[in-house]
Amino acid sequence: MNQSFAPQTAATATPVVTRVETVIIDLPTIRPHRLAMATMNGQTLMLVRISCSDGITGMGEGTTIGGLAYGAESPESMKLAIDRYMAPLMIGQDATRVQALMARIAKMVKDNRFARSAIETALLDAHGRRLGLPVSELLGGRRRDRLPVAWTLASGDTARDIAEAEEMLDRRRHRIFKLKIGARELRQDIAHVAAIKRALGDRAAVRVDVNMAWSEAEAALGMAALADAGCELVEQPVASAAALGRLVRRFPLALMADESLSGPESAFELARSHGADVFAVKIEQCAGLFNAQRVAAIADAAGIGLYGGTMLEGAVSTIASAHVFATFANLQWGTELFGPLLLTEEILCEPLDYSDFELTVPAGPGLGIALDEERIAFFARDGFDRKTI
Ligand SMILES: [Mg+2]
Repeated sequence: MNQSFAPQTAATATPVVTRVETVIIDLPTIRPHRLAMATMNGQTLMLVRISCSDGITGMGEGTTIGGLAYGAESPESMKLAIDRYMAPLMIGQDATRVQALMARIAKMVKDNRFARSAIETALLDAHGRRLGLPVSELLGGRRRDRLPVAWTLASGDTARDIAEAEEMLDRRRHRIFKLKIGARELRQDIAHVAAIKRALGDRAAVRVDVNMAWSEAEAALGMAALADAGCELVEQPVASAAALGRLVRRFPLALMADESLSGPESAFELARSHGADVFAVKIEQCAGLFNAQRVAAIADAAGIGLYGGTMLEGAVSTIASAHVFATFANLQWGTELFGPLLLTEEILCEPLDYSDFELTVPAGPGLGIALDEERIAFFARDGFDRKTI
């Protein structure tokens, strides 16, 4: 045996993943959030912390909308997938090769896109802290420091929604409003949208999200009426990508794909079949930040507009999304990164900067945010021990 190899010293050793911890926290929302498929009275965040042998840690987050109402993953299933299946694949692996480690996980863990996004976020946060660079710089460099942020009006009550929009305009926090429709009868929904657009006029843009609730025939009727009401964009009116393709460009308002997008492959199929004018890109839907960039590249190549979407995430995943959206060559439709504003509780040591209708992308290393550990421990489900995360 060749004994001449000197053991690696601590200074030159490659940092490896030593620990992967998860916690579920339940936070109240400022008001009930009514969507076509569920009404949310609170939001649940699955947070993951990855520790590395060089003492560096990174945070990631997975959320969904309305438990299992939106898709196959729940905060509880994300925690299970990470604890039981992903963590063992990560321990001892090179923490600096984020894409290689994510490929290793993808080979052994199919789907589970939201959980994989949380893990990739935590690895990028850690690596950014290690190198002293914001995540946006690890992703090729930001093109903008601030992102326009839409607000969703979803109280279910027209007068209350108009009052909420007026307040947001007065506070210069939002001037793009997305209305959640599809739960009520079509005529009622159209009257609701038209009343809000009439009240706000040219001071604000009005868009709607149907969350797949309409049939194709309803969508054809609805889109014509929405265009007449001054609505500029309709998001995922129907479930099927083929139906989206038949509806696009038939009416003078933009058609955005959201639930139909699950990463680069579906983005390519939608682009190939001319199935949308705009893509709503979400890091969780894409299984991570790198895939979100791939979706954006496909949209750019196909002449499809881009919008930065949200899974109503808390601060960690919202800021991870902000870092990747800041790198997009085009972001024609702005973002909806308002998730933290829907929660009554602040979980960061320093709140995010939402001002002048925009969100500032943090400039510090990694995600550039710090969690308030005491708040996390307080809201953790099942009496989580604050010393362990
Ligand atoms: Mg949507």
